[in-house]
Amino acid sequence: MGLNDIKGRIAAAEQAAGRAPGSVTLIAVSKVQPPARVESVLMAGQRIFGENYVQEAQGKWPDWQARFDGVSLHMIGPLQSNKAKLAVQLFDAIHSLDRMSLARKLAAQIAEQGRAPELFVQVNTGDEPQKAGVLADELPGFLASCREMGLSPQGLMCIPPESGDAVPHFRLLRQLAEDNGLPNLSMGMSADFETAIAEGATHVRVGSAIFGARDYG
Ligand SMILES: *Cc1c(COP(=O)(O)O)cnc(C)c1O
Repeated sequence: MGLNDIKGRIAAAEQAAGRAPGSVTLIAVSKVQPPARVESVLMAGQRIFGENYVQEAQGKWPDWQARFDGVSLHMIGPLQSNKAKLAVQLFDAIHSLDRMSLARKLAAQIAEQGRAPELFVQVNTGDEPQKAGVLADELPGFLASCREMGLSPQGLMCIPPESGDAVPHFRLLRQLAEDNGLPNLSMGMSADFETAIAEGATHVRVGSAIFGARDYG
């Protein structure tokens, strides 16, 4: 457990997969974590963090950003359209672009604010009715519409079904990225980031393995 342990495991997984050192970006998922835990990870040098809730991020990050240089925030949770404005202000990357209505709101805000977070399209690789994400079949059309609006997503993100093997989902995501000319793959969490790296992840989203279990109490 802990940041250095995870960094070491990422480096080992890169090497085992024959990938360049540093080719995988670690996003430390700090949602819901006590401030002291996040501060110790900031103090240890980590600068890229993932959050799921716009309001929570808005409440806690400005102070840390004033104290620590170079912090980069990634939105990885479901994004309500009415939070698009704040999300474009706060985040350097959004991994949860999952529908047309959100794409329109983001495009409008990016034009208005002159600030463009890096975008990942979330794909519902398991075709799960309760889960957000564009279906694999609909991805080419979705990307074309995004580009018409002036958005240029650079990657794909997935959250595989909770049970079962994640590998087919990682492979599908990689294939879709290749087919659509997208360089980035946001996949892999605490339980499976090494597997995701073996399957080509460029961004892993690791929370509890760095910070400890989340307490939603
Ligand atoms: C919470 C969350 C994570 C981190 O999960 P851990 O299992 O704690 O590593 C990664 N990705 C998404 C989309 C999340 O919501």
